[in-house]
Amino acid sequence: MTEPSIFTRILDGEIPAEILAETDRLFALRDIAPQAPVHLLVIPKTAEYRTVAELAAGDPALLAEMIAFAAELAAANTHDGDFRLVFNSGPNAGQTVFHVHAHVLAGGLTEKSVGA
Ligand code: AMP
Repeated sequence: MTEPSIFTRILDGEIPAEILAETDRLFALRDIAPQAPVHLLVIPKTAEYRTVAELAAGDPALLAEMIAFAAELAAANTHDGDFRLVFNSGPNAGQTVFHVHAHVLAGGLTEKSVGA
């Protein structure tokens, strides 16, 4: 058994955090270390998928739900609804939590770089 991820522990109420919004299969948090004026995380409730590639292969409909939810959150949290979606995939790409999640970044983003 691997340890539950920090996101599972938040979802289970073991670690305090404000869940901004949720659906039956997803929830959203504010990133604790924001890299943009708006920096939200969209997270599947299941911890079954570690990376976005695993999710795309295993449950593409859930990946599509993540993107639609990200768009709804951006619409609710920005004046224009524009957002950048980042999935860090693998430790050498900056992934630190191996429970797939999307970074939703918005506000004052003018560079083309994708670092979250
Ligand atoms: P990644 O590095 O792509 O795996 O993203 C993990 C993200 O989770 C980082 O941006 C962290 O700042 C964020 N994070 C870690 N712990 C928490 C927490 N307790 N609440 C909200 N965000 C967190």
